[in-house]
Amino acid sequence: MEDTIAAIATPFGEGGIGIIRISGERALPVLEEIFEAASDKSDAENRMLCYGRIIDRKKDHVVDECLAVFMKGPATYTGEDVAEIHCHGSMISLRNALSLIYENDVRPAEPGEFTKRAFLSGRLDLSQAEAVMDVVKARSDRGFDVAMSQLGGSLSRSIGDLRSQLMDALVDITVNLDYPDEDIEEITLHQLSDRISPVSDGLEKLIASADTGRMIREGLAVTICGRPNVGKSSLLNALLKQERAIVTDIPGTTRDTIQESMTIRGIPVNLTDTAGIHDTRDVVEQMGIQRSKDAFNRADLIILILDGGEDLTEEDRQLLELLRDRKALIVINKMDQDLRIGREDIIPYAADEDILFTSALTGDGIDRIEDRIEDMVFSGKVVQETSEMVTNVRHLDLLRKAKADLDQAYDAVARGEPLELVELDVRSAWDHLGEIIGDTASADILDEVFSRFCLGK
Ligand code: GDP
Repeated sequence: MEDTIAAIATPFGEGGIGIIRISGERALPVLEEIFEAASDKSDAENRMLCYGRIIDRKKDHVVDECLAVFMKGPATYTGEDVAEIHCHGSMISLRNALSLIYENDVRPAEPGEFTKRAFLSGRLDLSQAEAVMDVVKARSDRGFDVAMSQLGGSLSRSIGDLRSQLMDALVDITVNLDYPDEDIEEITLHQLSDRISPVSDGLEKLIASADTGRMIREGLAVTICGRPNVGKSSLLNALLKQERAIVTDIPGTTRDTIQESMTIRGIPVNLTDTAGIHDTRDVVEQMGIQRSKDAFNRADLIILILDGGEDLTEEDRQLLELLRDRKALIVINKMDQDLRIGREDIIPYAADEDILFTSALTGDGIDRIEDRIEDMVFSGKVVQETSEMVTNVRHLDLLRKAKADLDQAYDAVARGEPLELVELDVRSAWDHLGEIIGDTASADILDEVFSRFCLGK
């Protein structure tokens, strides 16, 4: 029998309510021990929220007023019997209620243990369990949508499809290996390649989605640069106002860069504002420049802002030169003034669609910056919210391994090597994909995955 576990499921601190969750065979006995319904006990039916008190019978003491509910397994989150107690959201009340529960043959849950039980009972596969955490930690609408779709099993279904195609190939191979003398139609190498290549293509598509997936999950790293007074802060503010985003200041790691997080069109964006790159002999300032260049190298996108009311300066040209082969937007700001920079001045350095005109003052053109950022993340493709997307590094790693296995199998087939060797590679790909959904994952991997969860989830 599994231990019965309990933990506080709501965040620490003060709140309207705080919820304790209990899972396992002792959920109901514990509830009966510590909970006293306000009215008739018959109120405490399965899945019915019941008002009452938590009482410490030994001390004859009321711990808190609360609502309690019991949910009989297996149709629960963990697949086991589950009880929830909704106390007042005070750490004192929650702590006292929890220690009372622990006195009743219940132990503290480890991080992610509820979800781990959901996985072990087969209610979720491993990629869905991981999506639970992505849902909880989502920082943007898009990130939330992708995590929800993964939780719903979109990635699992894709992986399942690819694996069943591989299984067909494995069956063909095995039949040919095991019964070489029987009257079984021999699998031709050509047929085998035909079976493997659609899987290989599918893997490639998933791997290609990972870039977008990463940006949606972790945020697009955008670096803003430009000379002083071109309007960098004003543009940043205009973007923030447009999105009405909740801004969190991340203190810059250096005095030269400032970081802010926001969402643009539901995509999380981490903005770094650099001090600009100056050609200087000043040693201290040069260190700042080095950091700015580092910020350039880390950026998914660089936005160079120019003052449209002035002629291009030597420094502007140097920056344009630096950005020539980078993913960059060139924003000519102050378009409300008489423009002294035209598209033709910038064309030598950047693609037409990456040259934008704005006015931070009037708000003109701000949405064009947002359009371009959205385009970039989705590489111009219209991405349906429900299409499966790889957002998890562990998944990406396994997909790459499976792809490498299949490449190797393909080569072995092409070289006419023995079927045994091909079988090994195909089986390895099948296993690697299985690890994504937890079918072939070892206990160590499970521990590693669930240890990253928060307590009470
Ligand atoms: P930063 O040093 O690059 O961050 O530039 P600021 O955002 O501080 O702007 C410098 C000056 O330019 C301020 O006086 C702004 O009001 C002005 N400014 C910024 N954007 C515009 C614009 O689009 N049009 C006009 N006319 N002035 C602007």
